[in-house]
Amino acid sequence: MKKPDKRVKHVPQRSCVGCRQVLPKRSLTRIVRTAEGLKIDPTGKLAGRGAYLHNQRSCWERGIKGALAHALKTELTDSDRVLLQSYMQSLPEDTVEQAGQES
Ligand SMILES: [Zn+2]
Repeated sequence: MKKPDKRVKHVPQRSCVGCRQVLPKRSLTRIVRTAEGLKIDPTGKLAGRGAYLHNQRSCWERGIKGALAHALKTELTDSDRVLLQSYMQSLPEDTVEQAGQES
């Protein structure tokens, strides 16, 4: 009468609001809605309603175009867009996921 011991290593996973894929949290960036507007939350510790976008430009584009506003139940202001777009510029161009390319 033992329950099967399904002890799987726990990897926190979240879904990207851009493409809806569920991914390990570390390949996603959290965006939080605060009283002063949206904030990028790389530490994942800011309080507030958050949404995740994964580190792929196409997802950020989709996020900026409406997915984020929808997920956060808010409307993006111009400064929110500027913030998100400048973050997006820092992301690499879309490529096929490259794991373990660090030398
Ligand atoms: Zn995505």
